Amino acid sequence: MDIVVLLGPPAVGKGTQARHFQQDGFFHFSAGEYLRARSKQGDALGDSIAAIMNAGDLVPGAVVTGAVRELLDEKISAGGIKGLLLDGFPRSLDQAEEFAQIVAARNLSLKVIELTADQAVLDERHRKRRQEALAAVVVSGTPPERNDDDDATFRHRMETYRQETAPVSAYYAGTGALIQVDATKEAEAVRAAICQALEKPAASFVPPAAAKPAPAP
Ligand code: AMP
Repeated sequence: MDIVVLLGPPAVGKGTQARHFQQDGFFHFSAGEYLRARSKQGDALGDSIAAIMNAGDLVPGAVVTGAVRELLDEKISAGGIKGLLLDGFPRSLDQAEEFAQIVAARNLSLKVIELTADQAVLDERHRKRRQEALAAVVVSGTPPERNDDDDATFRHRMETYRQETAPVSAYYAGTGALIQVDATKEAEAVRAAICQALEKPAASFVPPAAAKPAPAP
């Protein structure tokens, strides 16, 4: 079973590409969708997850890492899928390191696709997505699907990405598992580039010895 991690900044098009994977026999786990659903359970943890997400910050990693571990074990034992696509996980170095242990303990190989686009493209995609979401609210009369996509929170999520998530691609670059895909093109062309990248056999995953600087003696 292939494990594919999909990395990339907010509004780069991870969700759009992930939906294609689903049609190709992959199980799609979106960390953001999982957390949005978890935040609506009406308990204290759900309320605190909602508050963190609405602020554009990262939810404590253990909540997501635990869900990924359970999902992996469930899918490995059930079989019947081509692979598992993790979208929005790992999102910090701590998560990447914990995930590396999960992967190594199960002897899985990993492919990491990073979608890239410059800031102007991301801003334009966000502007369009926001406009469409607001138009849908007018038509349906129901609240927007997400509460963290207004301009100010989007900028904060971008900053969170730079601080917390960008180091994850450097981490994977050191393992040989990272494949960067230019996501500025149309969705179909990006999809084709991802499919081509995935045709290469997965390198066996060797976690970097030390992603973080060792503490001073
Ligand atoms: P997304 O739907 O991927 O844009 O994620 C929406 C929000 O969910 C993020 O801004 C975070 O608040 C939270 N989130 C998603 N994935 C993670 C993760 N792996 N770790 C912590 N928080 C996450």
